[in-house]
Amino acid sequence: MPKVFSAEIALRGLNPFIELRPYKRRLDEATARALFSEYDLILDGTDNFDTRYMVNRLAVETGKPLISAAITQWEGQVSLFHPASGAPCYECVFPTRPAPGMVPTCAEAGVAAPLPGVIGSIMAMEAVKHITGAGETLKGRLMIHDALFAEVRVIGVKRRADCPVCGASP
Ligand SMILES: [Zn+2]
Repeated sequence: MPKVFSAEIALRGLNPFIELRPYKRRLDEATARALFSEYDLILDGTDNFDTRYMVNRLAVETGKPLISAAITQWEGQVSLFHPASGAPCYECVFPTRPAPGMVPTCAEAGVAAPLPGVIGSIMAMEAVKHITGAGETLKGRLMIHDALFAEVRVIGVKRRADCPVCGASP
């Protein structure tokens, strides 16, 4: 079964009252632009850099906040990117994508099994805070969760005036 449908079943099991719209299609630029304009908040947990940079570019273009997370073997990172409200975009913080082969994919290196759940839950918490306005989100901050040594660091991140994605927007 495609994972978008197994995710739908799992989520409906957790909460039958939520509205779910599963999309089983490749996220190309035209699809992403149309989808993003329908939603208030974007969460990105994609597994490749091409999609990650494209999602960031279109989130900036449509003015939508983007909660972006990534994991490697033992480590995860999360931030809320939103140049429209003064926070950096993903490309401000990660201007250069790694050369092909420099970062092993999850399929190559594996991921500690609980890590996607940990980082996914942090993303969900950020979404709840962003929507409700409670507390402080990770807007303008990057959380780095080092699961192997049980350490969490939160560092400030800033917009770059020369960012090719958001540098010219307000
Ligand atoms: Zn930027």
